[in-house]
Amino acid sequence: MSIFPISLKDKVVLITGASSGFGEDAARLFAREGCRVVLAARRLDRLQAMADKIQREGGEALAVPVDITNRADIENMVQTTLVVYEQIDILFNNAGIGRVAWFEDHTPERDIELLIQVNLIGLMQVTRSVLPHMLARRQGHIINMSSMAGQIAAPLITSYNASKFGVRGFTDALRREVAPLGIKVSGIYPGPAATEFGQHTGGSITAAYRSVRSRFNVRMSSEYVAERVVDVAKWPRRSLIIPWWFRLLSTFDTLFPVAVDWILYGFSKKNHKIKQDDLT
Ligand code: NDP
Repeated sequence: MSIFPISLKDKVVLITGASSGFGEDAARLFAREGCRVVLAARRLDRLQAMADKIQREGGEALAVPVDITNRADIENMVQTTLVVYEQIDILFNNAGIGRVAWFEDHTPERDIELLIQVNLIGLMQVTRSVLPHMLARRQGHIINMSSMAGQIAAPLITSYNASKFGVRGFTDALRREVAPLGIKVSGIYPGPAATEFGQHTGGSITAAYRSVRSRFNVRMSSEYVAERVVDVAKWPRRSLIIPWWFRLLSTFDTLFPVAVDWILYGFSKKNHKIKQDDLT
């Protein structure tokens, strides 16, 4: 980590998933730092409203529609950014979707294929599209949104875990590949936060999920997570777990995986029973 913060003034920041949650808050905060922000997601009306707000407040912003499962959309997003701003200094790969359900209830299309397509493959394709421009300038910072689900594997979020562990592996491998070429790569690992994410997971909330939520009702604000992401852009580092004390959970899982297995076996055993009761 650098000792002095990097000035973000006039940096071009491309943010996927900027229509709500962390992405939307990060766009506002990066703009406040003097960055030129490119807001990308599928809901163009929301991106445009945010871009207009940033412009009214004296900042610079551009709204670009993208579905990151579509490679032509990704190319268009990157080309539009380069035509308008001529460079991409920071890529915040943030778009993502989730699913909370027993794995046997995951649908093959939405909960396995689409989820991996958005969270992992889409993120990789966006990176693949932006990287040559960063390499040509021998500078750039790629910030990938994983999750605590990329640190600790848990029941009910199996597909999501697979995608976010994938993001972690990709992030670490890419950092080791491109660091000598002047490109920084960081992974972000937040715990639960209050965004629209839950509404976008689809499906019904299971009794088991209700039980987890009532026990671990720690939800950070979206703005807090976005502030930490902006901090990572100012003080680049390999990874950031948010809040900091969740590092203890991840260290415990690394050191004592069998103990964590036993704790989570207990959870699954009890809640599979609740599920059976729900069905009868
Ligand atoms: P939101 O649901 O508010 O934001 C998700 C964003 O992803 C939206 O802007 C959505 O925009 C975009 N998105 C979804 N699918 C696509 C797609 N196919 N193409 C382009 N954009 C897409 O949730 P969060 O802000 O909470 O989530 C942001 C990231 O943070 C996700 O990667 C999530 O996994 C991760 N995360 C969330 C946590 C939480 O507790 N909230 C905790 C840890 C990590 P649109 O629908 O307009 O396309």
